[in-house]
Amino acid sequence: AESTSEQIIKQTEQFGAPNYHPLPIVISEAEGIWVKDPEGNRYMDMLSAYSAVNQGHRHPKIIQALKDQADRVTLTSRAFHNDQLGPWYEKICEWTGKEMALPMNTGAEAVETAVKAARRWAYDVKGVAENQAEIIACTGNFHGRTMTAVSLSSEPEYKRGFGPMLPGIKLIPYGDIEALKAAITPNTAAFLFEPIQGEAGIVIPPEGFLQAASALCQEHNVLFIADEIQTGLARTGKRFACEWEGVNPDMLILGKALGGGVFPISCVVADKAVLGVFNPGSHGSTFGGNPLACAVSLASLNVIEEEKLVEKSLELGSYFKERLLKVQHPSIKEVRGRGLFIGVELTEPARPYCEKLKQEGLLCKETHETVIRFAPPLIISKEELDWAIEKIEKVFF
Ligand code: PLP
Repeated sequence: AESTSEQIIKQTEQFGAPNYHPLPIVISEAEGIWVKDPEGNRYMDMLSAYSAVNQGHRHPKIIQALKDQADRVTLTSRAFHNDQLGPWYEKICEWTGKEMALPMNTGAEAVETAVKAARRWAYDVKGVAENQAEIIACTGNFHGRTMTAVSLSSEPEYKRGFGPMLPGIKLIPYGDIEALKAAITPNTAAFLFEPIQGEAGIVIPPEGFLQAASALCQEHNVLFIADEIQTGLARTGKRFACEWEGVNPDMLILGKALGGGVFPISCVVADKAVLGVFNPGSHGSTFGGNPLACAVSLASLNVIEEEKLVEKSLELGSYFKERLLKVQHPSIKEVRGRGLFIGVELTEPARPYCEKLKQEGLLCKETHETVIRFAPPLIISKEELDWAIEKIEKVFF
């Protein structure tokens, strides 16, 4: 007999390292914006695996690409060429307007890659003295869980017990242009930022910050690096959230929806003047650029184009935000966001509300205690959003 949700949760808690605190729901099936538990209860997914499922769960075209490629070749390592990597390179460069890409698997690995590229660029191109390169990042950032990523973090809980941290990192308050100006030295390799901070609670920087930061970086020969792992690929109603301020980063870091929620793939893209600092032997990954990931990623990018997910996210996002702004509740402090990337900040813990929404058949997850993030798959329809709003209104009544 199949296990019940209760049995699976018990098993997970007994044998799994306790580094997560999920909502008490087991997902055993998913399609589009809907997921099901083993008991057959259906829920609308309003988290989209932290924006990795922008194209919807198991998009038929992406699953077909996965199956077709699985029947041919899945892994070659980079010791040999594979026939999917070249087309994927060309596609992602075309998509981002950059000259080169470097594929990895997870977001954090792509962040590692970006930091390595920026440091080497500082030594080989900018002329910074050995081991003196500095990376400037922002308080409240989330760049992943590897040692580099947690070294970049300002969250004590992400770092506690994991020291020593990586040196050569400076933090400035997110959105503070004067602080950025003061932090830049001749040794600065890069300024690394999220154009909207996702894990921090959908935090949008003050208007003009990204433009001013971009200009400042250009003036001081500092790489302007956007982590668009969560915000990129249509989530905010633009291909990339940097477009909201019309800035063009020197390097883009992508992940999550790059693999359509089906297969992990991440990358950095930049021009040859930056990524050209790598040489054979300097960086790599056994699975990075594997044909299965590339085939899935090509299909995932095609779905974003064919289904006009950028336009859908923009239109439905503003509709959804307007409706959310009309929800009157004393605990709602602010509703903010761009496209279908919306945070509702409360004056009290958000988790009980997420639990109540779950009872109503709507799955979302609190971030930073007091913020509910609403980020449904971008294939959602207006009618389905109306259904969600009805549930949200009920919980906040
Ligand atoms: N950077 C940003 C902005 C993210 O939102 C995330 C994941 O939430 C990461 C990096 C890390 O990605 P991964 O969990 O795939 O390592």
